Amino acid sequence: MPGLSCSLPGPTMGGVRPLPAGPGEPDGRFVLEDYEPACLRLHREGRLAERVAAARRELEDCCACPRNCHCNRIRNETRACHTGRYAVVASAFPHFGGEDCLRGWRGSGTIFFSLCNLRCSFCQNWDISQRLSGKECGPGEIADLMLGLQEMGCHNVNFVTPEHVAPQVIEAVAEAAARGLRVPIVYNTSAYDALSSLRLLDGLVDVYMPDFKFWKPETALALARARDYPERAREAILEMHRQVGPLKLGPDGLARRGVLVRHLVMPGQEDEAAAIFEWLAGEVSPDTYVNVMGQYRPQYQVGQIAANGGTKYAAIDRAPRPQEMEAALASARRAGLWRFDERREPARRRAN
Ligand code: SF4
Repeated sequence: MPGLSCSLPGPTMGGVRPLPAGPGEPDGRFVLEDYEPACLRLHREGRLAERVAAARRELEDCCACPRNCHCNRIRNETRACHTGRYAVVASAFPHFGGEDCLRGWRGSGTIFFSLCNLRCSFCQNWDISQRLSGKECGPGEIADLMLGLQEMGCHNVNFVTPEHVAPQVIEAVAEAAARGLRVPIVYNTSAYDALSSLRLLDGLVDVYMPDFKFWKPETALALARARDYPERAREAILEMHRQVGPLKLGPDGLARRGVLVRHLVMPGQEDEAAAIFEWLAGEVSPDTYVNVMGQYRPQYQVGQIAANGGTKYAAIDRAPRPQEMEAALASARRAGLWRFDERREPARRRAN
């Protein structure tokens, strides 16, 4: 398939290779011994067809994400996300970056969707999120990719940027479940998700991995053209937590079920990070697993925003400083969060 790279990783290892425990781990409350992907239960109970039917109804008058465009995507109409009846897959491959508990030693089976419902001015993947890149794939083709990644030995199937194609993800998971899927489903999202879509995903997704990007509506409007992002993200993360709870790992150290929140530390936005961490600890759970990410780099339209936004956003035209990363981590700990993946860019490069 053009645009898709599905190369085999290096030699796969037999058996289980536990990952190193983090500080304070393992904690029995966050270990899941017995496991099967959530969707298999719905498959056995014969309840996936009704989810697929509801997902298709959502596409007829599209409110699959908070943009609420109300176009008929079954008829291939498009609006804000420029995506019609079928999802566009930009690439699918075993990914060896990101969190240890997802990439493990055989990689996370990532399926990157093209196009997006947000307009982040700093998007690192803008060439696929803001431009059409890849190939339209029906549910059967996406299920083929999922099962192919499983065959390669990937520890999970990881849907990246799925908010605008949540109904198509449901169709594909239903098909893959019937055809032998046995690894966890990871939903790797900006958190600009509709509650209606998340409720249709209840019992299909094992690990939710939402970003929480901005706290203030004015920042979300200026940097991602979505003033309601903070409110929608709070609703979405609460719903995800209601469905799957705090992140639990298997005895091998791999993610099995739960919520893993990512926050990308942005220079000059320390107060937003602190507010996000306080809310996560206070309103979701102090046991929320958080990846405090330090790989922000100015790119795409950031120069324009920094130049036109006055002093307010001037700092986003540079990488975060070490003291800004330390301040973000300190504010997370002060808030009461204690389960971290505190990656900085040099460590990420070494680990990769
Ligand atoms: S998924 Fe796309 S078409 Fe549907 S509401 Fe969101 S942006 Fe609009």
